[in-house]
Amino acid sequence: MSTRVGAGAVSAEIIAVGSELLTPFKSDTNSLFLTAGLNELGIAVQRKSIVGDDPTVLRDAVERALGGVDLVLLSGGLGPTDDDLTRETVAALLDRPLREAPTLVAALEERFAARGWRMPENNRRQACVPEGAEVLENPRGTAPGLWLEEDGRVVLLLPGPPRELEPMFDNVVRQRLEARVGDRRLYRRVLKVVGRGESHVAEVTQPIYDRWRQSEPAVETTILASPGLVELHLSVWSSLASSATDVLDAATAELSAALGQDLLSTDGRSLAEVVGQCLSDAGLRVGLAESCTGGLATSQLVDIPGCSRYLAGAVVAYSNDIKQRLLGVDAALLAEHGAVSEPVAAAMAEGARRAMKADVGLGVTGVAGPDGGSADKPVGTVCLAVAGPGDEVSTRLYRWPGDRAMIRRMATRAALGLLRRQLLGRG
Ligand code: AMP
Ligand code: MG
Repeated sequence: MSTRVGAGAVSAEIIAVGSELLTPFKSDTNSLFLTAGLNELGIAVQRKSIVGDDPTVLRDAVERALGGVDLVLLSGGLGPTDDDLTRETVAALLDRPLREAPTLVAALEERFAARGWRMPENNRRQACVPEGAEVLENPRGTAPGLWLEEDGRVVLLLPGPPRELEPMFDNVVRQRLEARVGDRRLYRRVLKVVGRGESHVAEVTQPIYDRWRQSEPAVETTILASPGLVELHLSVWSSLASSATDVLDAATAELSAALGQDLLSTDGRSLAEVVGQCLSDAGLRVGLAESCTGGLATSQLVDIPGCSRYLAGAVVAYSNDIKQRLLGVDAALLAEHGAVSEPVAAAMAEGARRAMKADVGLGVTGVAGPDGGSADKPVGTVCLAVAGPGDEVSTRLYRWPGDRAMIRRMATRAALGLLRRQLLGRG
């Protein structure tokens, strides 16, 4: 590889092998993991592909990749079964006879013996090493990785299971590649924006990143929008960490100023993580009452380790009866405004705060559909409220399009978003 490397630019292709990856039931996540790791090393992924357990197609894919890039990474197909053919196919293509390595056979036998099993004969295939290949140890599984070099190019065979591939990349492959690539690295920053649509974000940020695109080193920007959240990905290729960090800091500062408090985070933190941090910083605890979101907002808070510092508890208050009995929502309020209304959301938030002896209460009630809509409260109507920390109560009424899952996701984001605004003092 080093012979082909000009100006530190190394290119890679990833080939994910496995017929299951060509079905609707299993996605190739290894290439995403590998791309992130390669980019950090300054290696650009030129192409990636997925091939089934078919030696002809696999052979063609590897041959084509070798014609174009410095580094070919294959994942999968190193298993002991007949459909796992990566090792044999690559060995045949590169004309490297396979030889059983006695040390690998012994290690495999030992691995089985440690569990009180006899090694099936099939597993011997995993101890076969193509001539000239280096073996990469796999402490998590039976398939060792293989590192081959051919005319200055590297072909890397990695096991399919992510729990085996990921540590192998982190513990062995990364250092080996580091020693071969130049100083150029990809530096990235992810800015998350809430409460503004994609075009609104682009309107204020475009003039800023149009300028940073011309800087040296240049900042590339990608905008990624999903319902209720816009992400700006800034990336810089540079051989100097400090100059990359300097331009990213400066561009981030300008974007922060333009976006104000709609800028959620500049370090990739999620909305729930930021809300958790706000609560934790203020020494406050929250109680939630969720109807149509069915616990999704609570679940996102619980995803964060250490949430017991600020999460008091939650009730999924689906029926009116539960809203009344557990949260003390007044029957008259329900009768007058209906369950999906701002006054009821406010009463749920107050009730959750009281019932859970929390400082802040969050209430969510809505019509997620597909049934249950009416002329004045169509499917997609969602009411939110935050009560506290003091006397202040903020409510919101939204109408979103989309199916049940989408409406529940939007409601969850908006609920945590409202909680954040309230904690920042501008509910
Ligand atoms: P293999 O090494 O082909 O026997 O792969 C074993 C298992 O690893 C497969 O059944 C998948 O569950 C998983 N796997 C293989 N390739 C990938 C991939 N590209 N992304 C995520 N999981 C994978
Ligand atoms: Mg397979």
